[in-house]
Amino acid sequence: MKKIYFITGSQDLYGEATLAQAEKDSREMAEFLNGKLGSIAAVEHTPIVKTAAEAEQLCVKASSDTDCIAVIMWMHTFSPAKMWIRALKALRKPMLHLHTQYNEKLPYDSIDMDFMNLNQSAHGDREFGFICTRLGIKREVVAGYYKHDAVIEKIRSFAYAAAAVDFCKGMRVAMFGNNMRDVAVTDGDRVESEIKFGWNVNYYGIGDLVELVNGVSEAEIDAKMKEYTDKYDMDTDNIAAVREQAKYEAALDKFLAKENISAFTDTFQDLHGLSQLPGIAAQNIMAKGIGFGPEGDYKTAALGAVMQKMAADRAGATGFMEDYTYDLTEGDELELAAHMLEVSPVFAGTKPKIQVHPLGIGGKSDPARLVFDGISGKGIAVSMIDMGNRFRLVCAEIELVKQPEPMPKLPVARLMWKIKPDFATGAAAWIYAGGAHHAVVSTALTRDDIRLFAKMTGTELVIIDDKTDLNTFEQQLELLDLKAKIKG
Ligand code: MN
Repeated sequence: MKKIYFITGSQDLYGEATLAQAEKDSREMAEFLNGKLGSIAAVEHTPIVKTAAEAEQLCVKASSDTDCIAVIMWMHTFSPAKMWIRALKALRKPMLHLHTQYNEKLPYDSIDMDFMNLNQSAHGDREFGFICTRLGIKREVVAGYYKHDAVIEKIRSFAYAAAAVDFCKGMRVAMFGNNMRDVAVTDGDRVESEIKFGWNVNYYGIGDLVELVNGVSEAEIDAKMKEYTDKYDMDTDNIAAVREQAKYEAALDKFLAKENISAFTDTFQDLHGLSQLPGIAAQNIMAKGIGFGPEGDYKTAALGAVMQKMAADRAGATGFMEDYTYDLTEGDELELAAHMLEVSPVFAGTKPKIQVHPLGIGGKSDPARLVFDGISGKGIAVSMIDMGNRFRLVCAEIELVKQPEPMPKLPVARLMWKIKPDFATGAAAWIYAGGAHHAVVSTALTRDDIRLFAKMTGTELVIIDDKTDLNTFEQQLELLDLKAKIKG
């Protein structure tokens, strides 16, 4: 199990009795938080830090411990911050600075100087915060009593994000074919993606998959068909077309397992040896936590896998979506998001139907796909773009809504949503920011989860929400361009 170090700062000025008490308190707090983090990560208590040497030793250990995904830091007493300089320069794990106390309330009747000297994080955490700011260390500061639900929730969100960042390291992404010819926004710097996020993105010839497809047995296809009919309603007589997709998915399962792949892309422009574009095959696999990007969009595929990892056991749906068309009724504008085929069934608000329809693009046989209406509720849409000198995340708050009327002739799964704060502002902001037509949509995550991920990976982030004002937003974009220029 992955772990988070709980590091408590002090100094050797206070004498043994005070330090023993601080040690006891911090151990109790670490154990309490360990119980609250559940399966995300174990909170491991570490010996209280009294000297620069101890601080450095502990931060070096955390940085080199491959099981350690993050550290929580807290100054129980005052801890002169020059003793943290070497340690913090060595620290290479995400940090949560927990600004809290062992005691919730003040003991008004009995409080004396001993109590104040023992419980002085109000003092010590400011000294520690200064040195973090002076060193330019990105960290998450959470203030409040550590047993309060709101504080625990923030620590849990931090831990989920840290686990996702850890998951990124060495994450492998397969591109079957390249990105769609002439398309700009789905392209990107794959070397930089690996330097920045740890994503190892590689091209594979579709022939590598075709070879596996041709080796799939009838029994394997039967097993996959049973999986489909257990989960979805068969709504076609063209069973052969569905079996073809089952064959693709069985081959994909083998390929992903063999190559240890967490996300993949395909493209309708490179399907040599396949008679259909993967439809239900891609859809069913996406619902199992695998990231997917169509048209060779590796950034969306990778981001999809990471966001599913971040969502983990939290309620809600996460997957790839594409902005397709609008209902522009004034004041009640709605977006219709869908794709040629590949919408994850995690977004299904109605039981998915397996259907076979012609696909106008690509010149292949009619592909089998899952068709359904979407879920409703609060969510976010997140797009990653390559600005040439840095990556940018665009995160918009959206409200998923029930489609106002049936769409009996639309042969693909669909979601409908409203962008915040209103269509005119939200859509314009997205376009000013350069957000793609591909995004990862989630009802499990919030903008705060994306903010944490962006902070931990040092990625630029712009947020579109109910407070977005276009004038301020455009100025923010200009400042971000300026910042990138200064950083070179
Ligand atoms: Mn697309």
